[in-house]
Amino acid sequence: MKKALKSRYDGIVIINEQGAIESLNAVAQTLFSYALADVKGRNIELLIPGLYLTNELSQSTRPLENSYEAKIHRRDGTTIPVEVLMSETICDKGNFFVLLIRDVGERVTKRAALEYQVVYDSLTGLPNRILFYDRLHQSILTGKRLGSPFSIFIIDLDDFHAVNDNYGHYAGDWVLQQLASRLSGELRESDTVARLGGDEFAVLLPTTESVEQARQVADKLLQVLREPLELEGQMIQLSASLGIALYPAHGQDAQALIQHADLAMSTAKGSHDSQAIYQPDQARSPNNLKLKSELHQALENNELVLHYQPKVDMKSGRMVSVEALVRWQHPNYDLMSPDSFIHLAEQSGFIRPLGLWVTRTAMAQCAKWRAAGYALNVAVNLSVCNLQDEDLPDQLLDLINGCSAKAEWLELEITESAVMTDPQHALKVLHQLSGFGMKLSIDDFGTGYSSLTYLKQLPVDEIKIDKSFILNMSEENEDSVIVRATIDLAHNLGLKTVAEGVVSYKTWCLLSALGCDSAQGYYISRPLTAEQLTRWLEETGPRVDWAHF
Ligand code: C2E
Ligand code: CA
Ligand code: CA
Repeated sequence: MKKALKSRYDGIVIINEQGAIESLNAVAQTLFSYALADVKGRNIELLIPGLYLTNELSQSTRPLENSYEAKIHRRDGTTIPVEVLMSETICDKGNFFVLLIRDVGERVTKRAALEYQVVYDSLTGLPNRILFYDRLHQSILTGKRLGSPFSIFIIDLDDFHAVNDNYGHYAGDWVLQQLASRLSGELRESDTVARLGGDEFAVLLPTTESVEQARQVADKLLQVLREPLELEGQMIQLSASLGIALYPAHGQDAQALIQHADLAMSTAKGSHDSQAIYQPDQARSPNNLKLKSELHQALENNELVLHYQPKVDMKSGRMVSVEALVRWQHPNYDLMSPDSFIHLAEQSGFIRPLGLWVTRTAMAQCAKWRAAGYALNVAVNLSVCNLQDEDLPDQLLDLINGCSAKAEWLELEITESAVMTDPQHALKVLHQLSGFGMKLSIDDFGTGYSSLTYLKQLPVDEIKIDKSFILNMSEENEDSVIVRATIDLAHNLGLKTVAEGVVSYKTWCLLSALGCDSAQGYYISRPLTAEQLTRWLEETGPRVDWAHF
């Protein structure tokens, strides 16, 4: 055993049956940062803790092929990950063990990086779907053991495709990174926020005491996502929809919880406060994927219908226009409200033909009312996707001409956020539409971030104060202060105001005193079918004394 052992890569250590070190080659001396003289005769435990147990070693000598990983201790106290191969050598002096030791630091680092890639999202650095499932699984185990409740959220950005379409994927990526860091900034270290893919995120709150607590965190997250972002010198504003599922009430396993949070998220899409908690009876409601594919046939099968809700001039009490609101008479379900399918139409692109169908149907009906002597306008709702369609103005004009109607009879209701998604483009389209004589109305005003002064640059005629300010309005509360300020500012800018969600005569009077121009809401009428509205016009006429209604 006197011959020097040479190897370019491997450290070689020879120990005797008792584990005493006999020899170290140069690589081993460098690896361990010990000279042979320092360690000769000492137990291998010093260098590779846990390796040596005399009896076990000799009984279970590993053949050379069977390597395993260990950590070696260097003289300076640091450790290095190594791969150890061991074989037994029998010579005249007795039995010896040869340990081949290879530094695998690089491999370990690479593997860690690979493991990182497997469980983290490379774009945002957030945990990905796999890690989210894993943590969810852990929480379920802990929940079962300790009886501790927790909650998960599924968050989906609204109209995110518009960012990619308008600014490109590079900008889209950047936006996702910004939003990811906003989300993690709002959460505690013990919470998990993950990117499930695309524009979908998931959150795990490992301790959630109550539904209220979950809702509060959800509100906070939705709020930071809504804060404006500066993109290529323009302020854009995004929003998101969030579904909540609680353990154990809404599911006992990972799949059920995720499915239920997802279902709640679909409910939240289009709902007013953008968040929803899973409702167990939701499972029996129609499946979104199926609905999305069935929507295309809905038009062909005449399953879509329009209801019309009057907008009344507050001074004269006269019905001046009606808002067309779409419903879906699906063969298997009750009449479906637009809140349950408009977002699906937006996702699938079906919203474009739908928007044109609504306008064509509403304008044809409007032409009938006009022919019967009722000077009514018709309002239709346009989605952000409709607004992004370059051909929209010409298509609308064509279909108006096709049903012998006039552009001046058409009012287009567009939400603030639709305008703010791509203000430059919106400005162009809106000018074209207004140039044709159509009236433009800003819907759900007060729920977004755009300012009245910005809207002044648009060819807008009217703003619709969102029903969330009107529904519970009273002299005593803050809503009426906001409504008053909005009406005054709008008037100063030459815009008309409509209040939606007028549910009582008391609200009517308050609004009237504030100088609001028009009102819409259940107090006046729920949305009606064309036949019901025609009957109303024939029986009551377009003017009503609302005080004695
Ligand atoms: P929106 O444009 O804000 O329409 C007003 C909604 O408030 C309507 O719900 C209406 O029925 C409801 N509403 C009216 N008065 C009152 C009231 O006094 N109290 C309460 N609580 N609610 C009132 P609807 O018909 O379910 O429509 C929901 C939303 O669906 C609409 O909100 C609109 O954003 C969208 N939508 C409807 N039809 C279309 C369409 O043809 N195209 C597009 N893109 N969206 C549509
Ligand atoms: Ca509307
Ligand atoms: Ca509205």
